[in-house]
Amino acid sequence: MGYGLICLDGRPINRFGQRRNQSVTAPHCSTIFRALRRIGATITSMPGTYRQLLDAAIQHLQELKARGVQFVPVRPETLAILNQERCLAPGQSPAAPPVSARRPMPQPTARPAPVIPKPVDEKPSIELALALPLPGEAGVAAPAVVLSPEAKAAAFAELRQRAVACVKCSHLASTRKNVVFGVGSPEAELMFIGEAPGADEDDQGEPFVGKAGQLLTRIIQAMGLTRQTVYIGNILKCRPDTPGQSAGNRKPTADEMNTCIPYLHEQIDLIRPKVIVALGATAVEGLLGKTVGITKLRGNWRTYRGIPLMPTYHPAYLLRNQAPSEKRRVWEDMLQVMERLGLPISEKQRNYFLKNA
Ligand code: URA
Repeated sequence: MGYGLICLDGRPINRFGQRRNQSVTAPHCSTIFRALRRIGATITSMPGTYRQLLDAAIQHLQELKARGVQFVPVRPETLAILNQERCLAPGQSPAAPPVSARRPMPQPTARPAPVIPKPVDEKPSIELALALPLPGEAGVAAPAVVLSPEAKAAAFAELRQRAVACVKCSHLASTRKNVVFGVGSPEAELMFIGEAPGADEDDQGEPFVGKAGQLLTRIIQAMGLTRQTVYIGNILKCRPDTPGQSAGNRKPTADEMNTCIPYLHEQIDLIRPKVIVALGATAVEGLLGKTVGITKLRGNWRTYRGIPLMPTYHPAYLLRNQAPSEKRRVWEDMLQVMERLGLPISEKQRNYFLKNA
């Protein structure tokens, strides 16, 4: 089977690695990204495994491009499908392929085979890890029971009572000022999950109220939402103790996270948000398991308890690293979340943190 070549700097080349005239039908790299994203956005019922593969394919292309790889081999049928304006849901019968796609590819006779440059420094294990379900994705899907708002509020109140009385981690129960249960609407379509309360949150009994929390609030507002309309929680509901220290935070241990996470599962299953945002490496680790780093995972959809999950950087990281590029990355992740939720996105919102915007 012959392959077409896509130039990752946007210019098509011919079968022998030479640049081709712009008028030929080979699509630009940006067309591939757009087409793959369009497939992801339009086929909402795509099974989790296909979505993961799609996400992994997009990320793989982006990484190859970032490493300076200019060409990737693409089957002609794939090019034809990507060129179609409309994406088909699994099970839908495809329209007749475009004429150009039906034409048989001319078979090379004695011509030299095209030289396809090898991607530099490829790390297949990471691509593989991203393409396969992560440990936390294999778990339970949230039950499909839909409660009335009143029944949900009652179940939430009962859950809160249990959580605030919890003493399973005796070292945390004896040092905490408050159990930080969560804040926002049980009817929320969007749920943010962080790591654990810090000193400010322990004092006030509310998640994300310190400096990082204030930044999260601004991000939520920039999305056109409020803290009251989303839901904000943490993997751990007690502040991790820091024996012998009067200040500072520490990362929750795996034991602490495993002990506390059933409360979060109950919260997720009651709220049944349309999208979850996992804030930072520890939250991602608590939910999906220890896999590849947050830098690789962020910006790529995963699934948690059957719900689309977007990993992104923790706002505390943005406070430590003030580079506009990092803010833009988080914002791009939030734009994906807004698209998934069907929220309106203005030109101003789309262009935040873009150079010259
Ligand atoms: N960081 C978190 O991860 N959670 C909070 O509630 C506050 C800071």
